[in-house]
Amino acid sequence: EWPGLLDRTALVTGASSGLGRHFAQLLAGQGVVVTLAARRIDRIQSLCEDIRSEGGTAHALELDVSDPASIEAGLVGTAFDIVINNAGIAASATALDHDDETLDRIIDTNLKGPFRVARAAAKAMIDAGKGGVIVNVASILGVRVASHVSAYAASKSGLIQMTRAQALEWARHGIRVNALCPGYIETELNVDFFASEPGQKLIRRVPQRRLGQTRDLDGPLLLLVSDLGSFMTGSELVVDGGHL
Ligand code: NDP
Repeated sequence: EWPGLLDRTALVTGASSGLGRHFAQLLAGQGVVVTLAARRIDRIQSLCEDIRSEGGTAHALELDVSDPASIEAGLVGTAFDIVINNAGIAASATALDHDDETLDRIIDTNLKGPFRVARAAAKAMIDAGKGGVIVNVASILGVRVASHVSAYAASKSGLIQMTRAQALEWARHGIRVNALCPGYIETELNVDFFASEPGQKLIRRVPQRRLGQTRDLDGPLLLLVSDLGSFMTGSELVVDGGHL
Protein backbone atom coordinates (compact mmCIF):
# COMPACT_ATOMS: atom_id res chain seq x y z
CA GLU A 1 0.00 0.00 0.00
CA TRP A 2 1.16 3.50 -0.88
CA PRO A 3 1.05 6.00 1.98
CA GLY A 4 -1.67 8.60 2.21
CA LEU A 5 -4.22 6.94 -0.05
CA LEU A 6 -6.49 4.85 2.16
CA ASP A 7 -9.99 6.37 2.42
CA ARG A 8 -9.04 9.39 0.31
CA THR A 9 -11.52 10.48 -2.38
CA ALA A 10 -10.61 10.74 -6.03
CA LEU A 11 -12.22 11.93 -9.24
CA VAL A 12 -11.03 10.25 -12.44
CA THR A 13 -12.28 11.84 -15.67
CA GLY A 14 -12.42 9.72 -18.81
CA ALA A 15 -12.83 6.61 -16.66
CA SER A 16 -14.95 4.71 -19.17
CA SER A 17 -11.99 3.28 -21.10
CA GLY A 18 -8.24 3.09 -21.54
CA LEU A 19 -5.97 4.81 -19.05
CA GLY A 20 -8.76 6.37 -16.99
CA ARG A 21 -10.46 3.03 -16.47
CA HIS A 22 -7.14 1.56 -15.36
CA PHE A 23 -6.37 4.49 -13.03
CA ALA A 24 -9.79 4.17 -11.37
CA GLN A 25 -9.21 0.47 -10.68
CA LEU A 26 -5.66 1.13 -9.49
CA LEU A 27 -6.75 3.80 -7.00
CA ALA A 28 -9.72 1.75 -5.78
CA GLY A 29 -7.28 -1.10 -5.12
CA GLN A 30 -5.36 1.27 -2.83
CA GLY A 31 -8.48 1.94 -0.75
CA VAL A 32 -9.33 5.23 -2.46
CA VAL A 33 -13.04 6.08 -2.80
CA VAL A 34 -13.29 6.76 -6.53
CA THR A 35 -15.74 8.79 -8.57
CA LEU A 36 -15.65 7.72 -12.20
CA ALA A 37 -16.63 10.39 -14.70
CA ALA A 38 -17.29 10.19 -18.45
CA ARG A 39 -20.06 10.70 -20.98
CA ARG A 40 -20.83 6.98 -21.43
CA ILE A 41 -22.59 6.48 -18.12
CA ASP A 42 -23.43 2.81 -18.79
CA ARG A 43 -19.74 1.97 -19.09
CA ILE A 44 -18.74 3.71 -15.86
CA GLN A 45 -21.70 2.25 -13.99
CA SER A 46 -20.61 -1.23 -14.97
CA LEU A 47 -17.00 -0.49 -13.95
CA CYS A 48 -18.29 0.82 -10.60
CA GLU A 49 -20.02 -2.52 -10.10
CA ASP A 50 -16.78 -4.38 -10.89
CA ILE A 51 -14.88 -2.25 -8.37
CA ARG A 52 -17.54 -2.81 -5.70
CA SER A 53 -17.50 -6.55 -6.30
CA GLU A 54 -13.77 -6.45 -5.51
CA GLY A 55 -14.43 -4.64 -2.22
CA GLY A 56 -13.82 -1.07 -3.38
CA THR A 57 -16.05 2.00 -3.22
CA ALA A 58 -16.99 3.68 -6.48
CA HIS A 59 -19.49 6.23 -7.74
CA ALA A 60 -20.46 7.11 -11.31
CA LEU A 61 -20.75 10.67 -12.58
CA GLU A 62 -21.98 11.56 -16.05
CA LEU A 63 -19.69 14.36 -17.18
CA ASP A 64 -18.81 16.06 -20.45
CA VAL A 65 -15.61 18.01 -19.79
CA SER A 66 -16.07 20.01 -22.99
CA ASP A 67 -19.33 21.45 -21.61
CA PRO A 68 -18.93 24.10 -18.87
CA ALA A 69 -22.52 23.51 -17.68
CA SER A 70 -21.81 19.81 -17.16
CA ILE A 71 -18.74 20.64 -15.04
CA GLU A 72 -20.72 23.22 -13.09
CA ALA A 73 -23.53 20.73 -12.40
CA GLY A 74 -21.31 17.78 -11.62
CA LEU A 75 -18.31 19.16 -9.80
CA VAL A 76 -18.75 22.55 -8.24
CA GLY A 77 -18.65 22.29 -4.46
CA THR A 78 -17.25 18.75 -4.26
CA ALA A 79 -13.89 18.65 -2.47
CA PHE A 80 -12.04 15.57 -3.73
CA ASP A 81 -8.61 14.78 -2.27
CA ILE A 82 -7.30 13.65 -5.66
CA VAL A 83 -8.29 14.66 -9.19
CA ILE A 84 -7.04 12.80 -12.25
CA ASN A 85 -7.72 15.04 -15.24
CA ASN A 86 -7.49 12.22 -17.77
CA ALA A 87 -10.33 12.69 -20.30
CA GLY A 88 -8.90 13.48 -23.69
CA ILE A 89 -9.26 12.93 -27.41
CA ALA A 90 -6.82 12.79 -30.31
CA ALA A 91 -7.10 13.41 -34.03
CA SER A 92 -4.59 12.87 -36.77
CA ALA A 93 -4.31 15.27 -39.73
CA THR A 94 -1.72 17.57 -41.20
CA ALA A 95 -1.76 21.10 -39.83
CA LEU A 96 -3.13 22.29 -43.17
CA ASP A 97 -5.97 19.79 -43.00
CA HIS A 98 -7.06 20.32 -39.41
CA ASP A 99 -10.56 21.77 -39.69
CA ASP A 100 -12.15 24.16 -37.20
CA GLU A 101 -14.54 21.59 -35.80
CA THR A 102 -11.70 19.20 -34.89
CA LEU A 103 -9.55 22.00 -33.55
CA ASP A 104 -12.34 23.24 -31.28
CA ARG A 105 -13.21 19.75 -30.10
CA ILE A 106 -9.61 18.97 -29.16
CA ILE A 107 -8.95 22.26 -27.38
CA ASP A 108 -12.34 22.15 -25.61
CA THR A 109 -11.79 18.58 -24.39
CA ASN A 110 -8.04 18.46 -23.74
CA LEU A 111 -7.32 21.96 -22.51
CA LYS A 112 -10.37 24.01 -21.55
CA GLY A 113 -12.06 20.99 -19.94
CA PRO A 114 -9.13 20.10 -17.65
CA PHE A 115 -8.70 23.79 -16.83
CA ARG A 116 -12.32 24.05 -15.68
CA VAL A 117 -12.19 20.72 -13.82
CA ALA A 118 -8.98 21.71 -12.01
CA ARG A 119 -10.36 25.14 -11.18
CA ALA A 120 -13.61 23.74 -9.75
CA ALA A 121 -11.68 21.09 -7.82
CA ALA A 122 -9.15 23.55 -6.42
CA LYS A 123 -11.87 26.00 -5.32
CA ALA A 124 -13.63 23.22 -3.43
CA MET A 125 -10.35 22.02 -1.88
CA ILE A 126 -9.54 25.57 -0.75
CA ASP A 127 -13.04 26.08 0.67
CA ALA A 128 -12.73 22.79 2.56
CA GLY A 129 -9.30 23.93 3.81
CA LYS A 130 -7.72 20.58 3.15
CA GLY A 131 -5.44 20.79 0.10
CA GLY A 132 -5.23 18.01 -2.44
CA VAL A 133 -3.52 16.58 -5.48
CA ILE A 134 -4.27 17.14 -9.16
CA VAL A 135 -2.71 15.09 -11.95
CA ASN A 136 -3.16 16.37 -15.50
CA VAL A 137 -2.68 13.60 -18.02
CA ALA A 138 -0.71 15.24 -20.84
CA SER A 139 1.49 13.32 -23.31
CA ILE A 140 5.03 13.19 -24.64
CA LEU A 141 3.48 14.93 -27.63
CA GLY A 142 3.12 17.96 -25.37
CA VAL A 143 6.90 17.97 -25.00
CA ARG A 144 8.32 16.68 -28.29
CA VAL A 145 7.35 17.41 -31.89
CA ALA A 146 5.59 14.97 -34.21
CA SER A 147 3.75 15.48 -37.48
CA HIS A 148 -0.02 15.04 -38.01
CA VAL A 149 -0.88 15.91 -34.39
CA SER A 150 -0.50 19.69 -34.26
CA ALA A 151 -3.82 20.38 -32.50
CA TYR A 152 -3.35 17.52 -30.03
CA ALA A 153 0.26 18.56 -29.34
CA ALA A 154 -0.84 22.17 -28.82
CA SER A 155 -3.52 21.06 -26.34
CA LYS A 156 -1.10 18.89 -24.39
CA SER A 157 1.72 21.43 -24.25
CA GLY A 158 -0.87 23.96 -23.07
CA LEU A 159 -1.90 21.49 -20.40
CA ILE A 160 1.71 21.24 -19.19
CA GLN A 161 2.09 25.01 -18.88
CA MET A 162 -1.31 25.15 -17.18
CA THR A 163 -0.03 22.56 -14.71
CA ARG A 164 3.05 24.64 -13.86
CA ALA A 165 1.02 27.81 -13.40
CA GLN A 166 -1.61 26.15 -11.22
CA ALA A 167 1.10 24.51 -9.11
CA LEU A 168 2.70 27.89 -8.55
CA GLU A 169 -0.53 29.57 -7.51
CA TRP A 170 -2.02 26.78 -5.43
CA ALA A 171 1.01 25.53 -3.48
CA ARG A 172 0.16 27.88 -0.61
CA HIS A 173 -3.20 26.12 -0.31
CA GLY A 174 -1.54 22.73 0.02
CA ILE A 175 -2.56 21.68 -3.50
CA ARG A 176 0.00 19.85 -5.65
CA VAL A 177 -0.45 19.84 -9.43
CA ASN A 178 1.66 17.66 -11.72
CA ALA A 179 1.49 16.44 -15.31
CA LEU A 180 1.85 12.79 -16.27
CA CYS A 181 3.26 12.50 -19.80
CA PRO A 182 2.84 8.97 -21.18
CA GLY A 183 4.44 7.79 -24.39
CA TYR A 184 2.63 5.23 -26.57
CA ILE A 185 0.45 3.11 -24.30
CA GLU A 186 -1.54 0.20 -25.68
CA THR A 187 -5.29 0.51 -25.15
CA GLU A 188 -8.30 -1.13 -26.77
CA LEU A 189 -8.64 1.83 -29.13
CA ASN A 190 -5.13 1.85 -30.57
CA VAL A 191 -4.27 -1.84 -30.51
CA ASP A 192 -5.17 -2.28 -34.21
CA PHE A 193 -3.18 0.76 -35.26
CA PHE A 194 -0.07 -0.41 -33.43
CA ALA A 195 -0.39 -3.82 -35.07
CA SER A 196 -0.31 -2.16 -38.52
CA GLU A 197 2.91 -1.32 -40.39
CA PRO A 198 2.82 2.44 -39.59
CA GLY A 199 2.21 1.54 -35.94
CA GLN A 200 5.06 -0.97 -35.91
CA LYS A 201 7.33 1.68 -37.44
CA LEU A 202 6.53 4.01 -34.53
CA ILE A 203 7.28 1.27 -31.99
CA ARG A 204 10.69 0.67 -33.60
CA ARG A 205 11.57 4.30 -32.81
CA VAL A 206 11.02 3.74 -29.08
CA PRO A 207 14.41 2.85 -27.52
CA GLN A 208 12.81 0.08 -25.45
CA ARG A 209 11.24 -1.23 -28.70
CA ARG A 210 7.86 -1.86 -27.17
CA LEU A 211 4.55 -0.20 -26.45
CA GLY A 212 3.81 0.82 -22.91
CA GLN A 213 1.11 -1.06 -21.06
CA THR A 214 -1.31 0.70 -18.71
CA ARG A 215 0.42 -1.03 -15.78
CA ASP A 216 3.65 0.81 -16.73
CA LEU A 217 1.93 3.94 -15.44
CA ASP A 218 1.05 2.48 -12.02
CA GLY A 219 4.22 3.50 -10.15
CA PRO A 220 4.39 6.99 -11.70
CA LEU A 221 0.70 7.72 -10.98
CA LEU A 222 0.84 6.40 -7.43
CA LEU A 223 4.01 8.40 -6.80
CA LEU A 224 2.28 11.60 -7.91
CA VAL A 225 -0.87 11.08 -5.84
CA SER A 226 0.55 9.48 -2.69
CA ASP A 227 2.49 11.04 0.17
CA LEU A 228 5.72 9.67 -1.37
CA GLY A 229 5.42 12.48 -3.92
CA SER A 230 4.66 15.20 -1.38
CA PHE A 231 7.54 17.48 -2.51
CA MET A 232 6.59 17.17 -6.19
CA THR A 233 4.55 19.94 -7.72
CA GLY A 234 4.63 21.75 -11.06
CA SER A 235 6.58 18.91 -12.63
CA GLU A 236 5.96 16.63 -15.58
CA LEU A 237 6.68 12.97 -15.25
CA VAL A 238 7.53 11.40 -18.61
CA VAL A 239 6.85 7.66 -18.96
CA ASP A 240 7.73 6.70 -22.51
CA GLY A 241 10.31 3.91 -22.76
CA GLY A 242 13.01 6.46 -23.59
CA HIS A 243 11.19 7.93 -26.59
CA LEU A 244 11.74 11.55 -25.60
P1 NDP B 1 -9.51 6.50 -24.57
O1 NDP B 1 -10.12 7.00 -25.84
O2 NDP B 1 -9.46 5.04 -24.31
O3 NDP B 1 -10.22 7.18 -23.34
C1 NDP B 1 -10.58 8.53 -23.37
C2 NDP B 1 -11.53 8.77 -22.22
O4 NDP B 1 -11.86 10.16 -22.22
C3 NDP B 1 -12.82 7.98 -22.35
O5 NDP B 1 -13.15 7.46 -21.09
C4 NDP B 1 -13.84 9.02 -22.79
O6 NDP B 1 -15.09 8.69 -22.21
C5 NDP B 1 -13.26 10.26 -22.13
N1 NDP B 1 -13.71 11.48 -22.79
C6 NDP B 1 -13.49 11.89 -24.06
N2 NDP B 1 -14.11 13.05 -24.28
C7 NDP B 1 -14.72 13.38 -23.12
C8 NDP B 1 -15.55 14.46 -22.71
N3 NDP B 1 -15.88 15.46 -23.55
N4 NDP B 1 -16.01 14.48 -21.45
C9 NDP B 1 -15.71 13.49 -20.59
N5 NDP B 1 -14.95 12.44 -20.92
C10 NDP B 1 -14.47 12.39 -22.17
O7 NDP B 1 -8.05 7.14 -24.55
P2 NDP B 1 -6.78 6.86 -23.62
O8 NDP B 1 -7.13 6.09 -22.43
O9 NDP B 1 -5.69 6.37 -24.50
O10 NDP B 1 -6.41 8.37 -23.20
C11 NDP B 1 -6.62 8.88 -21.90
C12 NDP B 1 -5.75 10.12 -21.74
O11 NDP B 1 -4.40 9.76 -21.88
C13 NDP B 1 -6.02 11.18 -22.81
O12 NDP B 1 -5.95 12.47 -22.23
C14 NDP B 1 -4.89 10.97 -23.79
O13 NDP B 1 -4.60 12.13 -24.50
C15 NDP B 1 -3.77 10.58 -22.84
N6 NDP B 1 -2.67 9.84 -23.46
C16 NDP B 1 -2.87 8.59 -24.01
C17 NDP B 1 -1.80 7.91 -24.57
C18 NDP B 1 -1.94 6.56 -25.18
O14 NDP B 1 -0.98 6.12 -25.84
N7 NDP B 1 -3.04 5.85 -24.98
C19 NDP B 1 -0.46 8.52 -24.60
C20 NDP B 1 -0.37 9.80 -23.98
C21 NDP B 1 -1.45 10.44 -23.44
P3 NDP B 1 -16.54 8.97 -22.88
O15 NDP B 1 -16.37 8.81 -24.36
O16 NDP B 1 -17.41 7.93 -22.24
O17 NDP B 1 -16.90 10.35 -22.44
